[in-house]
Amino acid sequence: MSDSVRRRAMGGHPGAARETCPRWCVTAHGMHLGEDDWVHMGEPVALADGVLARLCLSVDPRSGAKDGPYVVVGSSEYTLDEAAALGVALVAMANAGHQAIRP
Ligand SMILES: [Zn+2]
Repeated sequence: MSDSVRRRAMGGHPGAARETCPRWCVTAHGMHLGEDDWVHMGEPVALADGVLARLCLSVDPRSGAKDGPYVVVGSSEYTLDEAAALGVALVAMANAGHQAIRP
């Protein structure tokens, strides 16, 4: 059985994913079937060297089971707390660097 046939058999619920959309979701739901349609993605933010960061959350519209939200940076996935800690650490490093070069 092909993936698309299996997904169709599992039952796509057109519009079901949209009902669980967080406010930050920009996904065009209904373009994919099954689990692929349950993923909510935020607007991507371009970081250095073309790396993108975005929020990601999977919600099963039938059970309401959630996986996430996570912050995906390139191919790495961070919990919200990990992403916040990473941001704080980067700002601290940048500030330390600025202090080191200021007279
Ligand atoms: Zn969504």
